Amino acid sequence: MTRLLLIGMPGAGKGTQAERLSQAFGIPAISTGDIFRHNVKNETELGKQAKAFMDRGEYVPDSLTNALVRDRLSHQDAAAGFLLDGYPRTGEQVEELDDILLQQGNKLDAVVQLTADTDEVVRRLLGRAIEQGRADDTEEVIRRRLEVYEEQTAPLTSVYAQRGLVIMVDGLGAVEEVTERIMQALEARGLDRI
Ligand code: AMP
Repeated sequence: MTRLLLIGMPGAGKGTQAERLSQAFGIPAISTGDIFRHNVKNETELGKQAKAFMDRGEYVPDSLTNALVRDRLSHQDAAAGFLLDGYPRTGEQVEELDDILLQQGNKLDAVVQLTADTDEVVRRLLGRAIEQGRADDTEEVIRRRLEVYEEQTAPLTSVYAQRGLVIMVDGLGAVEEVTERIMQALEARGLDRI
């Protein structure tokens, strides 16, 4: 019954760590970015609406994002816990998640903030753009994504910190080392892997 959030700058390694934590805790990793990309690829109505924002490095509007997450968290596999990767990213999304959890009678266990150096994440994102051909990873769009993160998402850390939920973990280093740091910090809070 573990409910976790993973937040951090684009390129901090959230996706990679989310998969590993999902395995360790036996909970689904739910990435709004992945869900949007899947919809864009399949040219769904949601994908068509999201694409223009994603291509510019802007956030998809809260109305679309919140509806998607509310629906996803109502699926049976999320009943016994989940890890949200890349949500919430705005104040309205924090409120929406609070409301969803209140209705479910559930609470978050921890918010893992992966920290990273801006130069390093730009390098990583440019490398990934070449490997995967992601349209949202051109240098100009990367810069915009980082700006939007600083403006809209970085301030959310203090909201969760006031609730005593934030665990700061250095996202630099080998993938396994970072996972180990996160696992140790979670275990120190009494959250055990399966
Ligand atoms: P990500 O792979 O998590 O960096 O997400 C890729 C893109 O999807 C972002 O740059 C946004 O355009 C969109 N996106 C993902 N999650 C959210 C969210 N919680 N709120 C708004 N837009 C999002």
